[in-house]
Amino acid sequence: MSTTTQSILCGSCKSPAKTVPNPKPHDQVKCPRCGKSDRFDQVMKSVQAHVAHLTQQHLSESLAKAARGNSFIKFEIKKPAHRSFRWIIEKGL
Ligand SMILES: [Zn+2]
Repeated sequence: MSTTTQSILCGSCKSPAKTVPNPKPHDQVKCPRCGKSDRFDQVMKSVQAHVAHLTQQHLSESLAKAARGNSFIKFEIKKPAHRSFRWIIEKGL
C-alpha cells in the first residue's frame, strides 16, 4: 500500500503514530502523546477515509477556482463538511 510511506498522525493531537515497521493488520498503532491505540487495519480504514476526504476537498477547491474565473458558470460548489478522523495522514500528498 502506498499509504505506508506517509506518516500516520493521531486525529486528536496530530502526533505521529507509533507502530512496528511493516505492520500487520493485527499490530497495534499507538499515539505516543495521548495514548490512543487501535489495530493497524482499523487505523488504515480511518486513514483511507481521511485521504478520500482530502481528495474531495481538493476537488471542490479547484472547481471553485475554475468557476470564479468564468462568469458564465454559476453553480454551487459543495464543500465537504468538516469531519474528524481517529487517525489521519500527514498532508502533502
Ligand atoms: Zn493522540
